[in-house]
Amino acid sequence: MSDPLIPSVNIGLVGHVDHGKTTLVSHLTGQWTDRHSEEIKRGISIRLGYADATFYKCPECEGSESYSTDKECQVCNGKTEPFRTISFVDAPGHETLMATMLSGSALMDGAMLVIAANEKCPQPQTKEHLMALELVGIKNIVIVQNKIDVVSQEAALAHYQQIKKFVKGTVAEDAPVIPVSAQKGINMGALIEAINKHIPVPERDPKDDPLMLVARSFDINKPGCSWRDVKGGVIGGSLTQGVFNEGDDIEIRPGRKVEAENQVRWESIQTKVTTMNSGSRKVTEATPGGLLGIGTKLDPAITKSDALSGQVAGHVGRLPPVWNKLSFKVVLMERVVGADDEFTIDPLKHKEPLMLSVGTAVTVGVVTNTKKDVVEVVLKRPVCVAVGSRIAISRQVGGRWRLIGMGTLVE
Ligand code: GDP
Ligand code: MG
Repeated sequence: MSDPLIPSVNIGLVGHVDHGKTTLVSHLTGQWTDRHSEEIKRGISIRLGYADATFYKCPECEGSESYSTDKECQVCNGKTEPFRTISFVDAPGHETLMATMLSGSALMDGAMLVIAANEKCPQPQTKEHLMALELVGIKNIVIVQNKIDVVSQEAALAHYQQIKKFVKGTVAEDAPVIPVSAQKGINMGALIEAINKHIPVPERDPKDDPLMLVARSFDINKPGCSWRDVKGGVIGGSLTQGVFNEGDDIEIRPGRKVEAENQVRWESIQTKVTTMNSGSRKVTEATPGGLLGIGTKLDPAITKSDALSGQVAGHVGRLPPVWNKLSFKVVLMERVVGADDEFTIDPLKHKEPLMLSVGTAVTVGVVTNTKKDVVEVVLKRPVCVAVGSRIAISRQVGGRWRLIGMGTLVE
């Protein structure tokens, strides 16, 4: 069995703003994912809106209460045993941050849809996020009915019925609904039990070529430090498959933008893995699940300020192709959700601009061809992605990018 203290899955927190996602992560992990900590305190332990929690079970007790994040059993005060570590990815709920939510969803093995019991269900981003989960193919979902401490039992039951009606016919139809108070820590055992059951660790083949989706990148040096002490550039993200080892030679694509003689091209970057952190632990071997921070030999100027976010890293010569133009099969939704007014979705138009979310990359392009169900889009920035991958498509509606459908990359 794998080490129960090393994260083995990423679980996304999605849902409407203020429904309690960050509070819930903080309760389970003891960390506030909200703080944008550009200052990285301990080596390369990076916070990405990621935070880890280890789940424990009492070997002597039965039932939901025997599950917790504590080393001591709340029922019998005996010693509990760790069984699994989860990495939570906290997605912003605000409607303007949908692109961030979508790029985060590329890293998620499952999701918790947080719905506050003191508001009518569904709220706009509750709908939009569930739609996004459906489109990007996240099937393992736990619904968290939060803030039950501020509603009566009758109101909570009525709200539960609203939730069930809302998810009927969607990917979350059979997802469990766990009533909790994230703030007061009520019913956390039942939530942990549900996560354990409904969001299992996916089967993975360690012999697959490693593929890391880069979500952030950093220069971790303090301003004015001596050149002797300069540490190489750091990339943060998740492995979606395969294994990285310390000392591996890696390639990052599309890489670096090179402008020469009025021509723009992208040059892949090659470097070496010098150090690795999984969550806050130093590791020499990294596997999928959890936030991976990789220290490299790169000039930190290349990695600073998230310059490499949206790129992918893998072994040299083993990465998918880089595309300046994407052709994909399209499935559009019937209507735009997430806005106060819902709009019917018209077919894609020649020359219209689209925002595409591909892995952790967000890129804008212009439709150049719309034959039958395959659409061709010329990109402003290239992306590195395998044929068959999913692409979330957003269009500008009423001055905002709205998710309108899904594409599958073809050759
Ligand atoms: P997010 O936008 O979904 O991340 O929501 P936050 O976690 O930032 O929470 C929004 C507000 O709701 C904060 O003021 C929290 O203190 C409050 N809140 C979160 N969970 C609960 C809960 O279980 N009960 C109550 N009463 N308030 C909560
Ligand atoms: Mg939040």
